Amino acid sequence: MRIFRLPGKLGVIAGKLKLKGKRVGLVPTMGALHDGHLSLMRAARRECDCLIVSIFVNPAQFGAGEDFKKYPRKLTKDLALCRKAKVDIVFLPESRDIYPEGFCSFVEVKGLGSLLCGATRPGHFRGVATIVLKLFNITRADIAYFGQKDAQQAVIISRMVKDFDLPVKLRIMPIARDQDGLALSSRNAYLGKEDRRQALVLSRALGLGRFLFEHGLTDAKKILLRMRQLITKQKKAAVDYIAIIDAETLKPVKKVSRGCLVALAVKFGKTRLIDNIII
Ligand code: AMP
Repeated sequence: MRIFRLPGKLGVIAGKLKLKGKRVGLVPTMGALHDGHLSLMRAARRECDCLIVSIFVNPAQFGAGEDFKKYPRKLTKDLALCRKAKVDIVFLPESRDIYPEGFCSFVEVKGLGSLLCGATRPGHFRGVATIVLKLFNITRADIAYFGQKDAQQAVIISRMVKDFDLPVKLRIMPIARDQDGLALSSRNAYLGKEDRRQALVLSRALGLGRFLFEHGLTDAKKILLRMRQLITKQKKAAVDYIAIIDAETLKPVKKVSRGCLVALAVKFGKTRLIDNIII
């Protein structure tokens, strides 16, 4: 496994891989790797000749007062996991090399970027789209792997790929969960025991939404109300949003149909968790 820190150096290697006709797979991460990340790596390992994993806590996607400073950083463990997953290249850039002095170009995916998570985290998806575009260019990835866990991110990246005719295929992999249903997330490390217990209500609320739909209820408002009632029974839960939306446009639907996305963001203390299902 090789480790690169400089975009230019990795770019040269990526160019050589291209010339040799190798299929390059990219898994972009912010580290503190868990089984969700590993599931993306496994998928990439299966279909690519060269697997690149990037680990970069991207300052551009954190707002003022968010958890950039305390975001979990577990490099030694991450590298061991990457080795075990047979990763070929780990890209570990420094901020100053990604955003050198004078950097002033950003990707804005209008509309989509300001809904849902974008409403409470202004600028977040601009930071995400910008780093992802840079990673695509640096690694020359043929296929890039993302998680359905960040459903809005997946929609936004797909839109950017279409809009900019980027020569990369996307694979969106299912949400990996703990046995009790909690979606895996690096931020779960922030949860105390009681928060962790109460956070199970997220997957339960999504299950309730699906259950109500399967039993004939299609009025989005009514389903959302029942979900909200369930979540707010947990004392520590503060709902940011619960939404039933079109899985491509992210626009709210009135009447729920198969294929709709049910998504939510809920805070437990300072920890903001997201989860979703496709009905
Ligand atoms: P992050 O390190 O949180 O930025 O995540 C890196 C990639 O892993 C993103 O594409 C996420 O959507 C994906 N990911 C994070 N958690 C999960 C999960 N529980 N299941 C599947 N993919 C995930």
